Amino acid sequence: MKEIYYNSTRGLKQNFTASKAILQGIALDGGLFVPDRIPSIDEEELMSFKHMDFKQLSLQISKKFFTDFSDDELKKCIDMAYDGKFESDEIVPLNGAGDVFYLELFHGPTLAFKDIALCLLPHLMRTSAGKQNLHKDIVILTATSGDTGKAALEGFADVDGTKVVVFFPEEGVSSVQKKQMLTQKGRNVKVVGINGNFDDAQREVKRIFNNTELREELEKKSYIFSSANSINIGRLIPQIVYYFHGYMELVRRGEIKFGEKINFAVPTGNFGDILAAYYAKKMGLPVNKLLCASNENKVLCDFLNSGVYDARREFLVTISPSMDILISSNLERFIYDISGRDDVTVKNLMNDLSEYGKYKINRQMEEKMNTFYGGFATDEETRQSIKEVFDNYRYLMDPHTSVAYSVYKKYLQDTDDSTKTIVVSTASPFKFTRSVMGALDDRYNSKDDFQLMEVMSKVTGLRIPKPVEKLSECKIIHNTVCEIDQMESEVKTFLK
Ligand SMILES: *Cc1c(COP(=O)(O)O)cnc(C)c1O
Repeated sequence: MKEIYYNSTRGLKQNFTASKAILQGIALDGGLFVPDRIPSIDEEELMSFKHMDFKQLSLQISKKFFTDFSDDELKKCIDMAYDGKFESDEIVPLNGAGDVFYLELFHGPTLAFKDIALCLLPHLMRTSAGKQNLHKDIVILTATSGDTGKAALEGFADVDGTKVVVFFPEEGVSSVQKKQMLTQKGRNVKVVGINGNFDDAQREVKRIFNNTELREELEKKSYIFSSANSINIGRLIPQIVYYFHGYMELVRRGEIKFGEKINFAVPTGNFGDILAAYYAKKMGLPVNKLLCASNENKVLCDFLNSGVYDARREFLVTISPSMDILISSNLERFIYDISGRDDVTVKNLMNDLSEYGKYKINRQMEEKMNTFYGGFATDEETRQSIKEVFDNYRYLMDPHTSVAYSVYKKYLQDTDDSTKTIVVSTASPFKFTRSVMGALDDRYNSKDDFQLMEVMSKVTGLRIPKPVEKLSECKIIHNTVCEIDQMESEVKTFLK
């Protein structure tokens, strides 16, 4: 097979192999690594996917992108990633309730979809380091809106040759998310709350990455930076797998005919999850529409409907905190694609964004966005959907999933599309007990998140997931809170 190389969306041509791109995380000109082509899957191969389980699919798909890894190397990584850490052998079970299907991506160690890729990434990185003969410690810098942080900590804790620093918005995550991070054990981890929001954290982490002086200073001490955010292609590619899996599951159950198109409704923040769906479609998965669902920070919804990306608006804290984002990193990869892989255009647009807080794409690019439907849901609508779906079907959604479901309902009103739809279910309701139980009944508002786990379990008959069962009793290990301009010095102190 022809080798795939990775280059920056903003023009820097280094022709990196996958292992180099995974190790470095982000391109040195501030752009994101993109594969020089999206490999395609013909009908015969697609047909063969019908008989594969999640791990087999994962191998078939990752080998198409990570062409400098051997099958054996990838298989080892995949076996280690998905070995016993997931509550279900299926890894990502598909559940049906009412008129939609839910692809449950939250049965991993931290109860959110980011586990799927972040269980694999540490193994990809270590293998990459071996392939590149790298004898430095990899420092994973991570900005999180709540879920990436814990998933990265779980994935990398006590992994030799790595260190992890996680920055999260002190006032912008759920109590369960916060406690999950602050209680993280491991000799190589550091967790820091910041007085700022996710965009602040992400911007500053990117700045630290691209600080050449610091990079050189650290290299002398035998450290290199990398990223566990979805800017890393080692995060993005493993996410493609579950879209194929969800599709094949519908075929296996006779819900659709092989080749029939389906929709996915995806709760979206940084555009990583839904970009993987877009890549899946480009590879050959029969997809009709991708429903891009925003909460009230609806910058993406507005963009898809107008061609103008305008981040100049108030940052809102919602009940779906992992989507509280105004600067959506992975959109840059999409822009790159619809511009006809024109790095000059991307660079100009990204300059506009950092200089003026907005950019506008041209008509031709706009026309290429028609795979997407952009919608949003308010907190009130999100709560209503949680209640409605539970009352009608006894299926309990977390707030992020509910945003996607709510947007799907709006889509049905806007169109006469009857295509079968999978709602991508990104978090367990047990991670957001207060918002979820509060949506079912006001009287639960007097209880705290941890008390409500018991209540949720009683009301739904679901068991409290193991990873959070004992969380309320866990000891807080991390207690640093800093300002945005102190993040860099926190990193330095940790590495001293
Ligand atoms: C991160 C996250 C999202 C958004 O995914 P993106 O890839 O950032 O668009 C949605 N739901 C949950 C629960 C998440 O953790």
